[in-house]
Amino acid sequence: MQEKFDVIIIGASFSGLTLAHHLPKTYKVLVVDAKPFAGSSVESTGLITTHTREEFASFFDIDAYITNPISSICVVSPNYDDYFISKTDDYWIYQTDTKALVRALAEKLSDNVTVWTGMAYDSVETHDGVSTIQLKGGGDVKIVTTTFLVGADGGHSSVAESIHQLDTNGTFLFGYEEVWIGDVLLGPLPAETIYHFWFGEFSLGYGGWLSPTTIDSKPGFRIGLAKLKKDRGDAKKLLAQFMETLTEKKIVSLPADVLKPEYRFGSFIPIGGVLKKTSFENTLLIGDAAGYCGAFAADGIKGSVISGKESALLIERYLNGERCNLAKTLREKINEHRWLIDYYTRQQRYRWIWDRMKKDRTFRAMYNIINEERAHFLDQFCDNKDRRKSLSRSVLKIKYIPKLVIYSWYIFLDFFVR
Ligand SMILES: Cc1cc2nc3c(=O)[nH]c(=O)nc-3n(C[C@H](O)[C@H](O)[C@H](O)COP(=O)(O)OP(=O)(O)OC[C@H]3O[C@@H](n4cnc5c(N)ncnc54)[C@H](O)[C@@H]3O)c2cc1C
Repeated sequence: MQEKFDVIIIGASFSGLTLAHHLPKTYKVLVVDAKPFAGSSVESTGLITTHTREEFASFFDIDAYITNPISSICVVSPNYDDYFISKTDDYWIYQTDTKALVRALAEKLSDNVTVWTGMAYDSVETHDGVSTIQLKGGGDVKIVTTTFLVGADGGHSSVAESIHQLDTNGTFLFGYEEVWIGDVLLGPLPAETIYHFWFGEFSLGYGGWLSPTTIDSKPGFRIGLAKLKKDRGDAKKLLAQFMETLTEKKIVSLPADVLKPEYRFGSFIPIGGVLKKTSFENTLLIGDAAGYCGAFAADGIKGSVISGKESALLIERYLNGERCNLAKTLREKINEHRWLIDYYTRQQRYRWIWDRMKKDRTFRAMYNIINEERAHFLDQFCDNKDRRKSLSRSVLKIKYIPKLVIYSWYIFLDFFVR
């Protein structure tokens, strides 16, 4: 006899586990993940904004998993020698211990939720509102049934791929990151600063990042870069070069006995924008599977947590017999969280501009303009962005016309770069 669940969630990460915390305790819920256990690896730097922290705090002790509150951002120009730091009085983002956080999210679920790990979603067949799902793992095949199926299985969602009425993400960055024990030495407050490297030609697609963390009470850092999906083959080699440069320039230093990172990972980040068809009958996509991720900043944890929370309410209404366009209603509900969907739309514009830039000189020209506005630069990031201030409004000023002309000229020239 096949086991029957009210809701089956594929994916035990930020979106799937948030949803599992919010479904009514009277439901029999199954969360399935292909990994050996929840949090065994988490493909994310794990920086969360103040509002994401608040969203978590409403159901979970998030502060226990914050390693470093961050007050500053340091932007480093393509030559690695020039940089500016923009600081706020309050902390504006938080570095989390991603593995411990996801593990705890799974461990603290209530008794109505079962988590099966080491099992991958394979296929679904739906008749008369009941879905029969095939799971595979460790040579085993399990068949389970459910009245509601959720794809919380990341940017390359197998759930989305298995139901042709659902949209799938088509544009990705490939993010590659290593987590090291060691010190960051740049600027006055390294333990409270994240660093963004605008190295342009070195890694077209995103740039590099360095974020302070704590590993077993020792100072550490997370170093990463992201490339357009087609160039992902270079990511590991480029990260090694990046690390070498930061060591040479004395931006980071490693203890003598540290020869390799604690761990490393690479994964795809959906940057094509929010998908339209994210629901069909009794199936819904959330988190990265639905494209709730900033196309420019590559920030998806907020969208995962909010879509997890909001979808719980919609699923309850659906299982109570109410019918509506789940995908559209979910987007509207998510947008009530400080216009998050509008934020994703603006992020696509920034992505478009960023992808036009090809040469170091163009990144340098942009750096020169933004450096002038460094005091307000943080207004452009994360939650501050929710106030709908735009970067273009900050930099489109008469006094910057000469710099803007140079920048535009370089963008024009970059158009001819293959
Ligand atoms: C390198 C990198 C750095 C990032 N840094 C940040 C950051 O600092 N801040 C931020 O906000 N966002 C960041 N992001 C984006 C963020 O990590 C994602 O938006 C977020 O993890 C999405 O959560 P999710 O639960 O939707 O999916 P995921 O976290 O991708 O989880 C999907 C889960 O589904 C499971 N799964 C997949 N397929 C199957 C299957 N067929 N069967 C069973 N299980 C399956 C996977 O094992 C996984 O556990 C980063 C992404 C990358 C790649």
